[in-house]
Amino acid sequence: MIAAAVVREIRDLLAEGGLSQRKIAGQTGVSRGTVNAIARGKRPDYATRRPGPDADFTPPGGPPTRCPGCGGMVQMPCLLCHVRAIKQRRRLQGRSFR
Ligand SMILES: [Zn+2]
Repeated sequence: MIAAAVVREIRDLLAEGGLSQRKIAGQTGVSRGTVNAIARGKRPDYATRRPGPDADFTPPGGPPTRCPGCGGMVQMPCLLCHVRAIKQRRRLQGRSFR
């Protein structure tokens, strides 16, 4: 993966317009294809991608306890309740769960 700073530098050089994509590629050490992808806006900006809605999720662990949400004997946090919450959120956003 290319560092976000390099991508930014390539964007700046492209915006200045003084250098060809080939020269920018040589200067920054990435392939011409990558420079072209950045120029055409085809390369996703990984650095600014927001983490998904489940980024704060911690995997279940520890001894099974009674879940206050669904009443099942589960390792907390309860996976079933977590998935139900996601489904509920998507339903409210009007997205199908497929
Ligand atoms: Zn539960």
